[in-house]
Amino acid sequence: MSLIKQLIDKLYNENSLSKEELLILLNDITEEEEKYLAEKSLEIKSKYYGDTVFMRGLIEFTNYCQKNCMYCGIRAANINADRYRLTLDEIMECCIEGDRLGYKTFVLQGGEDPYFDDDKIIEIIKTIKSRFKDTAITLSIGEKSYDSYKKFYEAGADRYLLRHETASKELYEKLHPNMSFENRMRCLKDLKEIGYQVGAGFMVGLPGQSNEDFVEDLIFLKELKPHMIGIGPFISQKDTPLNNEENGTLEKTLVLLSIIRLMLPNVLLPSTTALGSLDTKGREKALKVGANVVMPNLSPTSVREKYALYDGKICTGDEAAHCRNCIEGRIKGAGFSVDMSRGDNINWRRK
Ligand code: SAM
Ligand code: SF4
Repeated sequence: MSLIKQLIDKLYNENSLSKEELLILLNDITEEEEKYLAEKSLEIKSKYYGDTVFMRGLIEFTNYCQKNCMYCGIRAANINADRYRLTLDEIMECCIEGDRLGYKTFVLQGGEDPYFDDDKIIEIIKTIKSRFKDTAITLSIGEKSYDSYKKFYEAGADRYLLRHETASKELYEKLHPNMSFENRMRCLKDLKEIGYQVGAGFMVGLPGQSNEDFVEDLIFLKELKPHMIGIGPFISQKDTPLNNEENGTLEKTLVLLSIIRLMLPNVLLPSTTALGSLDTKGREKALKVGANVVMPNLSPTSVREKYALYDGKICTGDEAAHCRNCIEGRIKGAGFSVDMSRGDNINWRRK
C-alpha cells in the first residue's frame, strides 16, 4: 500500500495527522489516491449522517460593506457595486416563502453594514423567531464585539458563520487591509464561548496560498472544533484588485473537503455555491466526498445579481422555489436524500 493510502487510513482511523503528514498528503496525492480519499470521507459522513443533506435558506439582505477584503466583489471600495438593503418586511417575505418551501433554517448574510446596528439586527431576529418558532437563525454578518454577539444570541440567533478565510497570519494580512487576524480569531472564540453553533472556514486557491497554508487551516480547524466548516474556491471578481488572479480549483477543494470530513467526522459541511459556479456538477461532487449541507437562495430575484462576490455566480435569476427544486433534484440525482429539519450539529444544545 502506498504511503499516501497509509496516511489516508491513519486519518480515517484516528481523525488526525501531524503537520508533516498532512503536507505529504497534500503535496503527493495522485488522482487514484484522491478517489480512495473520497471513498473514505463519504463512508465517514454516511456513518454519522446517513444519506441525508440538510437545506438552509439563504437571505443576502445587504451588500453594503465597510470592509475591503481584496477578493470580494462587494468590498467598500468597489464603486461599481450596485448597493441594496432589504427592509424588515422584505426579509420577512423571504422567510414566509422559505417557510412555505419547508425550510427550518434561515441564514441571514450580508456585508458589514453599519446601517444594520445591533437594535436593527435584534429586531430582525425577534420578528423572525416570533413568527417561525421552531426555525433556526444563522447570522453571517462579520466581526462584532462580544456584547453584540451575546445580544444576538439572547435574541434568538442560533448559529454564526464567520470564515477565518486563512489561518496563515501573513496571508490574512495581505488580503485584508486594515483588518486584524487577531480580531478574527477573537470573534470565533467569543462566538463559541457564548454558545452559538459556529462556522469557520477558508477559501481555496487564494493568490499566494500554498499547501503549507492549508496545513495551518486544517490544524487550526482541528483545534477550534467548529460545528460547521465552509470552504469553497476563490473565484476572481472583475472589480477587485485580484481580478486577474487564477481561480481556485475543484480538485483541490474536493481533497480539502475530504480531509476535513475525516478530521472532524460530525461537522456540518456545506457544498458551496462557489463550487457550483466553478463546475456545473461541483455541488454534487462535494456531496460525494462528504459535504452534507446546501444553502439555496431565498433572496428576491431583483437583488440577486447585486450580491456579486465573484464573477459567474450561479442561480442569480432563479426564483426561490426554482432553486429549492433544482437543488433537490441535484441531491437526489447524486444519490442522497433531502432533510428539511433544522439540522443542528449533533453535539450542540442551546445554553
Ligand atoms: N461579510 C461577512 C464576512 O465576511 O464574514 C459575510 C459575508 S461574506 C460575502 C461571505 C464569504 O464570501 C466570505 O467569508 C468569503 O469567504 C466569501 N467570498 C467573498 N469573496 C469571494 C470570492 N471572490 N470567491 C469566493 N468566495 C468569496
Ligand atoms: Fe465585506 Fe465580507 Fe466581502 Fe469582506 S468578505 S468585503 S467583510 S462582505
